[in-house]
Amino acid sequence: GANKLHNLDRLHHLHPFTDLQQYANKGGRVVSRAEHIYIFDATDKKIMDGMSGLWCCNLGYSQPTIVAAITEQLQTLPYYNSFFNCSNEAAITLAAELADVMPSGFNRFFFTNSGSEANDTNIRLVHRYFDILEKPQKRIFISRKNAYHGSTIAASSLGGMSAMHKQITGLTYVEHIEQPYWFENGGSNTPEEYGLIAARALEAKIDELGEENVAAFIAEPIQGAGGVIVPPTSYWPEIQRICDERDILLISDEVICGFGRTGNWFGCETYGMKPDLITFAKGVSNGFQPLGGVAVSDKVANVITTSDGEFAHGFTYSGHPAACAAGIATIALLRDSGILEHTRQHLGPYFRQRCQELSEHAIVGEVRTQGMLAAFELVKNKDSKERLGPDGSGAQFARDCAIESGLMVRAVGDSIISAPPFVCSNDEINILIDRLVAALDAASDEFGVRG
Ligand code: PLP
Repeated sequence: GANKLHNLDRLHHLHPFTDLQQYANKGGRVVSRAEHIYIFDATDKKIMDGMSGLWCCNLGYSQPTIVAAITEQLQTLPYYNSFFNCSNEAAITLAAELADVMPSGFNRFFFTNSGSEANDTNIRLVHRYFDILEKPQKRIFISRKNAYHGSTIAASSLGGMSAMHKQITGLTYVEHIEQPYWFENGGSNTPEEYGLIAARALEAKIDELGEENVAAFIAEPIQGAGGVIVPPTSYWPEIQRICDERDILLISDEVICGFGRTGNWFGCETYGMKPDLITFAKGVSNGFQPLGGVAVSDKVANVITTSDGEFAHGFTYSGHPAACAAGIATIALLRDSGILEHTRQHLGPYFRQRCQELSEHAIVGEVRTQGMLAAFELVKNKDSKERLGPDGSGAQFARDCAIESGLMVRAVGDSIISAPPFVCSNDEINILIDRLVAALDAASDEFGVRG
């Protein structure tokens, strides 16, 4: 049973973002089933999923209408492509539904299988846009340090994760600026002062490179895998001003923030951003099928749909009927059964309140929350901000304690991250917080901090 699977996994299966040597020796956890907000491993240990899978199963694991939609679609039209002027009803319907829930001015959608491919698609779309406008020299993308935009060579070039950049030779025309990470970089500035400073790094970078050479700025409304970096409220309006004044396209990567995670349909709405392109994936299909894409604003679409010649880009599974069926059913649940409204009005504020209480804990230096996203920055000393352990070891220890006690959370740098499904009850949020507190207590003992 469990041991045999565990061994086969260790011997034959290469895992993403995993120390392959360690895995080959020791293996990991085999997850065998899931229901509601719980996963069960091969030993039948039940773990509350405080991460919604990889921030994607926003409606939890038991959604029969999504499963039925996928199944029905597989029985009617299991596959056809959307190349060469072909289409299918599921892809058409999903595009129309997306137009309904997206911010106004977003009416056209290009489908991919993943967020990484969607960001590659963004690069192709932006190049095509400026080529048609006869500004081919506008080529450079500006992104942020510590960003994660995917794992293809192009998407990882947009990303700013130093560990990945050590392992790839990526696009030569990507530049990175600081993220609005006040706790780390804010110094004696207030968060609002620091938000402006961090945003103006974009202006300085554009001036350094020459506005005529810069095509686009890409960022997540809240940097997710980079540590749930909730920006000061001054940050996005200033970024928007800079992009508008300098003819720079703004790309909002909503792979994590989209479909309700920040409390609204899209993170750009939470922050009043007016992007030109929106990357989506993950929550669009509740993680039940591989699906991603780019939402193209009318401004960009009106250029690329009124010029001769083929857009030479796409994937065999772009607009895959079964994936699109999952997307249609997911949107229906979020919109028509009131889950998003409940999350925005009740669950998100409750989660936020319970998370904020942890700022009293001896090792919590800062709590960052918005909607159903939270980060707890772990410190040894709240005044000096000295982190709990070297190289993120404090957060890793706390994460391991949490998982052991039946709560899946993630460690990013010195922070513990949580992004629970929107179908939690208040009682389940309370259990999540209790398990987190127990893990923080264990970590403060381990690292010798007195409460
Ligand atoms: N963009 C962001 C913000 C992400 O968080 C991720 C994945 O975590 C991606 C892009 C890449 O998406 P995928 O893993 O579907 O390729």
